[in-house]
Amino acid sequence: MKTVNTIIALRHTIAAWRSSGERIAFVPTMGNLHDGHLALIDEAKKQADHTVASIFVNPLQFGEGEDFETYPRTLDEDSSQLASHGVDLLFAPPVEVMYPLAQQQQTRVEVPEVSDILEGVFRPGFFVGVATVVCKLFNMVQPDIAIFGEKDFQQLHIIRRMVEDLQMPVEIAASPTVRESDGLAMSSRNSYLDSEQRKTAPLIYRCLQQAVDVINGGGDDYAQLESAAIATLEKAGFVVDYFTLRNAETLNPANAGEKNLVILTAARLGQTRLIDNLSLKL
Ligand code: AMP
Repeated sequence: MKTVNTIIALRHTIAAWRSSGERIAFVPTMGNLHDGHLALIDEAKKQADHTVASIFVNPLQFGEGEDFETYPRTLDEDSSQLASHGVDLLFAPPVEVMYPLAQQQQTRVEVPEVSDILEGVFRPGFFVGVATVVCKLFNMVQPDIAIFGEKDFQQLHIIRRMVEDLQMPVEIAASPTVRESDGLAMSSRNSYLDSEQRKTAPLIYRCLQQAVDVINGGGDDYAQLESAAIATLEKAGFVVDYFTLRNAETLNPANAGEKNLVILTAARLGQTRLIDNLSLKL
């Protein structure tokens, strides 16, 4: 695996592949890789002749008081994992390569409305940071296909909207959430949990599953379902930002009778904020 840190070196390597007509898949990450990330890499490998991964902890998507400084950075271990999963090229740029200007001067990409709900309420500016960095990375790599995790369901929705609205010539593929054996969705932030919190954390997944079971069994009092799950999580010590049933295509609140649903939740245990979701089709 080749590792590059500059846009010139990145473009040089990719240009050679492109001129031979080879298909390129791209997996953007913030590093500290786990099996969830590696599943995206395995999917990318199936979809193209060459796989490019990026590792960049994007300052633009972290708010005031969030964990930009302390976000785990493990480039050496990440590199060996990517190499052993057959990645051809790792792009790991420093901040000044991605953002040569001061942050407030940076051109931004905004996907309106859908960026202001759910995560956007609790992390203002987060999705502008995500859309901007993904747009820049797409322009640099110019992949044929890019793979994103369903774990970040709203993010996936926003990327698809950005690509559609801006006519970007890239296919977006989704990869299912990879979980620990007790159901906790894998996340770089799980390492912030102490051992007691780690034992409590899988309750998020159990609450999602329980809600799915009730709906599959014909339950359609969604407000009651949401408040029951919030009460269960709060009793266990979570501070719940949201636990909500949405239309999976629009992310608008779901109405009884809709067929394509997703339950999304975000909850904090101490300082650690966890998100998860489960989709269901009726
Ligand atoms: P991150 O490094 O957290 O920015 O994530 C990079 C990519 O990995 C995103 O597309 C995430 O949705 C995806 N991802 C993170 N955790 C998981 C997981 N547990 N299962 C599947 N994909 C994941």
